Amino acid sequence: MSAATALAEIKARISVAERDAGRPAGSVTLIAVSKTFGADDIRPVIEAGQRVFGENRVQEAQGKWPALRDETPGLELHLIGPLQSNKAREAVALFDVIHTVDRDKIAAALKAEMDRQGRRPKLFVQVNTGEEDQKAGIPPAEAVAFVERCRAEHGLAIEGLMCIPPVDENPSPHFALLDELALRAGVAGRSMGMSGDFETGIRHGATHVRVGSAIFGSRPSPAG
Ligand SMILES: *Cc1c(COP(=O)(O)O)cnc(C)c1O
Repeated sequence: MSAATALAEIKARISVAERDAGRPAGSVTLIAVSKTFGADDIRPVIEAGQRVFGENRVQEAQGKWPALRDETPGLELHLIGPLQSNKAREAVALFDVIHTVDRDKIAAALKAEMDRQGRRPKLFVQVNTGEEDQKAGIPPAEAVAFVERCRAEHGLAIEGLMCIPPVDENPSPHFALLDELALRAGVAGRSMGMSGDFETGIRHGATHVRVGSAIFGSRPSPAG
């Protein structure tokens, strides 16, 4: 199946899921996750009309997106992978939305760069809903207070929350928890759901779903 065909299928499934959840058509933003894929794989998806893309590494994104953006105006690029504060400058310069704000050091670094560059990417706070040691994100119990600190102490507007549930668990309780935390924190955005579970995410109120392999095909696994 071509990526353009796969994209059309995912968009159709999102429409059905929106309707089944009693949500307005178009209330869910599809982020096409193009990590590990090159410009030649991405171009057909842009030509098929997709404008919103996600990458998980700043350096990898820097290598392919400036040229793609020159070719097609109006692309929106989301950073969905962990951010180190020494990459804040590049991240603010390149991305329109950053989903992975998860500690004060990053919040402060982003604020400094946003002021310096006069660019205002939208920000989501990543929550480690499964409290996994190896995973980025703020623990659920600290999430609401952290959003409040981002606003009051760092002077940052926060658009929403993001989570990546543990791979081997039912994602529903994680999505429900993220939805509840977003409500309590007073943020509208919920970035949740990937290729295997985006319909579940939409049922729980996702405003952004991050879909990679179901559009672009499987990625080479890190283990080879
Ligand atoms: C890779 C990635 C995705 C997309 O995963 P698929 O299962 O390929 O859809 C979504 N979110 C994050 C944070 C990712 O790193």
